[in-house]
Amino acid sequence: MHQDVVNLNKKLAPLSVQEMLIWAWSNIQPLAMTSSFQTQGMPLLHIVSQTIPDLPIFFLDTGYHFPETLLFRDQIVKQWGLNLHVIYPSNSGSQSNNTSHTPLYIKDPDACCYANKTRPLQDMLANLSGWISGIRRDQTLNRANIELIERLPQGCLRIHPLANWTKKDVWQYITKHQLPEHPLLSQGYLSIGCKPCTRPVFEQDENNDRAGRWVNNNKVECGLHTLLRGNQLNHLHEHVDGKPFGKE
Ligand code: SF4
Repeated sequence: MHQDVVNLNKKLAPLSVQEMLIWAWSNIQPLAMTSSFQTQGMPLLHIVSQTIPDLPIFFLDTGYHFPETLLFRDQIVKQWGLNLHVIYPSNSGSQSNNTSHTPLYIKDPDACCYANKTRPLQDMLANLSGWISGIRRDQTLNRANIELIERLPQGCLRIHPLANWTKKDVWQYITKHQLPEHPLLSQGYLSIGCKPCTRPVFEQDENNDRAGRWVNNNKVECGLHTLLRGNQLNHLHEHVDGKPFGKE
């Protein structure tokens, strides 16, 4: 990690989530946050609405979301006065370079997530200096080592104000502030992504917040929180678009 990012992590460590958000809004511009409007994302959205309500909130619309998610999103945005920006994939990303009759989410879910989520966000990041994400260390092994602030290979700073929070902290906040729940939570869905790739979890796995996603597949992440920090972008860009990244 570069020394400037080490120093920033030291600076942010004693701050509350509210203080971290205000610091980021004052010091990193242009700045935006992503949210998928799941129940566990409600605390950060709620804190944003009370501290920096003008912060642009990006929602990646893959075209495959549950209608309940879109309705819930719009209710929260209206109720809390959030500054929502819906991001759509370019070039009919839902199918992208797929010429077969099998949907890309079945044929190659990594390529589908790349075309519909990672690439559109990557395009947005090119215009940002900072990206706030609500991921936590206790969610998956891939997220266990995230820092409060990191610099992506693309140059943008990524801030994780909830990195230190646990699932218990999230639920305590939700209960204390009586935050609304995504309507599918009561139907057994734990982590709610795109409809074709999300299943209800009837035997709840207490240790796996993301149970029910990409069932029967080893995939556990869509790539937003791994690919953009790693070096697999060129491979997927070539696979989906037929040309290496940067060769537009
Ligand atoms: S979650 Fe499924 S449908 Fe959504 S982008 Fe990823 S593979 Fe495609």
